[in-house]
Amino acid sequence: MATKAIHLASRLPRIATLAPRATPRAYTASRTLISPARAAMTSPKTELVYFSDTYQTSCEAKVVSCEPVEDPGDDGVARFVVVLDRTVAYPAGGGQPSDTGRIVGPGGVPFAVATVASTKDGTVTHLGELEEEGAAPFNADDEVTVTVDADKRLLHARIHSAGHLLDVAMTNIGFGPDVMVPAKGLHQPDQAYVEYTGKVEGLDKDKLMADLKAEMNKLVSLGGGSAAAMMGYDEAAEACGGELPSYIPKDSTPRIVTIVPDTAGCPCGGTHVANVKEIGSVDVTGVRVKKGTTRVSYTIEGMKDHK
Ligand SMILES: [Zn+2]
Repeated sequence: MATKAIHLASRLPRIATLAPRATPRAYTASRTLISPARAAMTSPKTELVYFSDTYQTSCEAKVVSCEPVEDPGDDGVARFVVVLDRTVAYPAGGGQPSDTGRIVGPGGVPFAVATVASTKDGTVTHLGELEEEGAAPFNADDEVTVTVDADKRLLHARIHSAGHLLDVAMTNIGFGPDVMVPAKGLHQPDQAYVEYTGKVEGLDKDKLMADLKAEMNKLVSLGGGSAAAMMGYDEAAEACGGELPSYIPKDSTPRIVTIVPDTAGCPCGGTHVANVKEIGSVDVTGVRVKKGTTRVSYTIEGMKDHK
């Protein structure tokens, strides 16, 4: 049985509105939604260093371009969009917020990265400003080091991984994708949920919340290594329970994530913990049924309002 994932665009960080063509894109692993950032899962143009290691927070890279943002905004601060040949910074997408961090090049003045985004073709853009007013921006081919804020990276990975864990728990308690199909999700420090399409008549919300909380915390305490790898289409389909969402091109090598061993995986471009134990204690905080969708909200340790 296929576990279909989650994930939709987060609210755009305020600064993203200043950057032409730098709007964070969403993707979803659901068969019911279109995936605007499918390139991130199949053939990213920028090498995504975080694909192979969630815990790597720094890498060397080469500048492809550094363009000023045309409208600097009310504060008059010069901002730039930097494209690198590779990056360790996660671009907003799939309901997971972007990393923040800094890029340091030959000039030595750090470039503070406020927002990371991914364009349709899988090019990652870093939007931000130099930490010294008037400092020279990067030139093409500059060798730079890009570093992300490690605490934020790990928190985002834990929240996002808990969204996958929720899917597994739903299946384990009898609400698998044959009953409720994961359609989209949000995995932010201030709010996290997964929305499922499909309605269960006479759903006992309190029981569902209690059962899910128990199952998720059981899975966390059992622990188990997650897996993420790009693989051929047929192998990917098999890993996902026999089928892939229609937006995954047949000639691509999608990235398949399995959060709990021996459960169905799903295509995903996010960052994940290596072991579900790292998610920590989970609370299921709400079930809302509206217009044919059921939204299950959750918190984990370290998130706002976690109990
Ligand atoms: Zn994921």
